[in-house]
Amino acid sequence: MKTDSTLIISPSGVRGVVGKGLSPDIVAKLACAFGKMMGEKILVGYDTRTSNDMFKYAVFSALLSVGCNVVDLGICPTPSLQLMIKEMGANGGIVITGSHNPPEWNALKFVRGDGLFLFPEEGKNLIDIYREDTVKLSPWDRLGKLSKDNSAIPRHIKKVIQLVDCEKIKVKRFKVVVDACNGAGAFATPLLLEKLGCEVVKLNCEAKGNFAHLPEPVPHNLQDLSRIVKEVGADIGFAQDADADRLALVSERGEALSEEYTLMLACNFVLQNKKGLVVTNVSTSRAIDDIAAKFSCPVKRTPVGDIHVSRCMREKGAVIGGEGNGGVIFPPLNYARDGIMAAALILNHLANENISLSSLVDSLPRYYMLKQKIKNLRVDFEKLKQSLRSDFSSHELDFTDGVKILLPEGWIHIRASGTEPVLRVIAEAKDKKTAENLSRLALDKIFSFRK
Ligand code: MG
Repeated sequence: MKTDSTLIISPSGVRGVVGKGLSPDIVAKLACAFGKMMGEKILVGYDTRTSNDMFKYAVFSALLSVGCNVVDLGICPTPSLQLMIKEMGANGGIVITGSHNPPEWNALKFVRGDGLFLFPEEGKNLIDIYREDTVKLSPWDRLGKLSKDNSAIPRHIKKVIQLVDCEKIKVKRFKVVVDACNGAGAFATPLLLEKLGCEVVKLNCEAKGNFAHLPEPVPHNLQDLSRIVKEVGADIGFAQDADADRLALVSERGEALSEEYTLMLACNFVLQNKKGLVVTNVSTSRAIDDIAAKFSCPVKRTPVGDIHVSRCMREKGAVIGGEGNGGVIFPPLNYARDGIMAAALILNHLANENISLSSLVDSLPRYYMLKQKIKNLRVDFEKLKQSLRSDFSSHELDFTDGVKILLPEGWIHIRASGTEPVLRVIAEAKDKKTAENLSRLALDKIFSFRK
């Protein structure tokens, strides 16, 4: 079968454009390998993409063929499946979701028996099994069985509600607009909000794969949500990507906030109640350090990728963590990015403070972040690192993931993406001009080391 360059198979998963690389036979082969690796009971969930009827049957068939018992959770957010792994005593799970990617994309997320994603070394093992193509199929009398379970979302919501001050939130009678981008959150988030006594205005909550806008919850994609929040006089707007692990916010003024604010607010709330370690990746705003410092709490930075953050949080016993892309991880629930848990934490914070979201945001440290993506550029990364090391010898350099230069006025982070053939350059400073200058400095340096 012909494949092309859109197919990306890496230890962090597989993804591609439907019909142009990602095909049912590849998905089935990977699912066979995963089933062999993980064992008897595997949960399967999916978002609302048009390709998911095609892919889910490929996944079911593959898992059954290697003797796994498959529980079909239906359309459900990635964090709901991650939570159900332990609840249902499963050995692993597969989520079929293109997550924040456009509708023509799809992907598989592989979950371990403890609800975390496969560790990079396990992901590599999975790819080795897939490439060797020697998985032995089960005979007719040892095939797996398929069952259906629709309880993941209500069970997830029940657990989330137990972890916030439900009565305090209910009293506020918040008016909330939810934009689920017609993704998996369409079934979950409005239900959560109703249980928290909110007046819910649904936007793009139809659970269909023709997304109303691109699913990445960045301000540019949230124009309708911003307008409707203002029009209906809502207290807050919530936006999630197609598998609801990421959450972005719109203030009562109709301002779509940078995704960085979701984790900032979650930290600001959680640390008030419980002091401890905060874990985030090296690309997340410096505001997290400022907020943690306010509560005398340490911050640990990991490579980019939620598995690195989850793993570190569990190992070090962090109280809160996540990524600046709107992915909040709250350990009392699970070590998973969770856009549903995050929504409940933010409402609890608003209820406690008894002020508007924009006032709450105004009380947080403010930085300007500039994110750039450079495509099709080959750079001698080792030479670039050496040169930066000598140019910035009097400053702190962090090589956790690519290279990060920490300066008094801000920081620059340069890294090769793990999932796309691009270089990512992020600069952050107290004001736009300084961030632009830092970004320009980084780009000049990068282009001087192009191959
Ligand atoms: Mg996602």
